[in-house]
Amino acid sequence: MIKKIILKFVLILTAGHAFAQTGGRSLVRVELGDYHGDMKKIQARSLDVAGVDLSKKQVDLIVDSSELKWLKTAGYRPVVVSVERFSAGPDSRYQNPEKVEAALKQFAALHPNLAQVKSIGKSLQGRDIWAIRMTQNVKVEDPSKPHVFFNAMHHAREVMTSEIGLDIVETLLGQYGKDPTITRWLNSYVVDVVPMFNVDGNQLVWSQDSMWRKNARGGYGVDINRNYPYAWNSCRGSSGSRYAQDYRGEGAASEPETQVMMNYVRSIRPVMSVSYHSYSEIVIYPYGCEGQRTETREVVEKIGKELASKLKKDDGRGTYTAGTAPELLYSVDGGDIDWLYAVAQVIPFVIEVNAVSQGFQPNYSRWRDQTVEAQRAGWKYILGRMDGSSLYGQIKDPQGRSVQQAKIRIRSADGVFSQELRVNPDGFFNVILNPGLYRVQIEATGYSSEPQVIKLGDLRTPFEPVLKKL
Ligand SMILES: [Zn+2]
Repeated sequence: MIKKIILKFVLILTAGHAFAQTGGRSLVRVELGDYHGDMKKIQARSLDVAGVDLSKKQVDLIVDSSELKWLKTAGYRPVVVSVERFSAGPDSRYQNPEKVEAALKQFAALHPNLAQVKSIGKSLQGRDIWAIRMTQNVKVEDPSKPHVFFNAMHHAREVMTSEIGLDIVETLLGQYGKDPTITRWLNSYVVDVVPMFNVDGNQLVWSQDSMWRKNARGGYGVDINRNYPYAWNSCRGSSGSRYAQDYRGEGAASEPETQVMMNYVRSIRPVMSVSYHSYSEIVIYPYGCEGQRTETREVVEKIGKELASKLKKDDGRGTYTAGTAPELLYSVDGGDIDWLYAVAQVIPFVIEVNAVSQGFQPNYSRWRDQTVEAQRAGWKYILGRMDGSSLYGQIKDPQGRSVQQAKIRIRSADGVFSQELRVNPDGFFNVILNPGLYRVQIEATGYSSEPQVIKLGDLRTPFEPVLKKL
């Protein structure tokens, strides 16, 4: 019994030490002479990269005194932006887990035919992670409606992101029946939003440390966005050190939050997704490891660049920049978008909202409304892209029954582009493509279709393949 008590006491002390270490840090800004080379060195030293200003080739770092010393001896000239104790809590008007749950439940109560709220699973500390599903006649399951997914706050300190998640919900539900475009989107698609994913981490932001990023594992925390199993720990895009801000965890998908997200994505099978982060004013598409491009980069990167072009910067000068993580920042492995793309067949993006001058926790009165309003152009573009060039339909056998393990093979007439997709078990598919001429063929257990040439324009195009028994 005494042993148990002592052990508990030691554990508390250890956890306390981890949090205590976070005192005495500074936010510093460093100009980089060789942006990519310097970012690699900074990453190898496991420094906490808060954000970047691409146009100025500047990086913001949160460092303790020994890291600050290292920066100076390594020849960087860090400018201290603020020396803060980073005590608990940003502006109290930002969200917390209880407020998000209450807000979502209230939205669903006000719009019972349009919105449904559910807990998609529990965090490490047993908190519910809430999602809202929005579509016309939400209580009737309609597998023909494709899903679009928005999530926010993988990283706890990025408090503006949950404001955006809730604004998506509020705008869609509030404008349904008034704005014809939004009405059509909710009639045609299902929009799923998880406004606050890292609920335990957010609780720590309020109770311990406003700069807390990871989940609540152990007192040190795991970076959930380095814990996804695709290419986990594969390209120095994460850290194996528990106290690093990008600690990848003990194993691939070791964290309950990662598992919850993966199960949820498998259940909704979104066509596209956005994960909201802050800050840097960039749009990131897969892959996170250097030199690796998506098989369908013509489609993915075009959408990413168009998405970035819709997002105005905080200073009103120009728009966001799009690229892969190694192009814009540094290598990332175990990030959500790589798993979403490679395993879950989603076209996924990360948006890092706000500029360096706003940081992780912008002045609420000055920036909250402006940021969520500026972000509307982005998520509306994603929903609008669902209406654009794409193929959709349902694959059935000649008797109208569903077939097993159907695959759809798409090749552009010039042979440059090719894609193979697993069709949903219920036979439905929705493939986003660029306009053009394609050769499309279906294969399934015991069945196949003749290759068919399809001319795809700017619109969503139905495709009814005829299957023959092999
Ligand atoms: Zn983040």
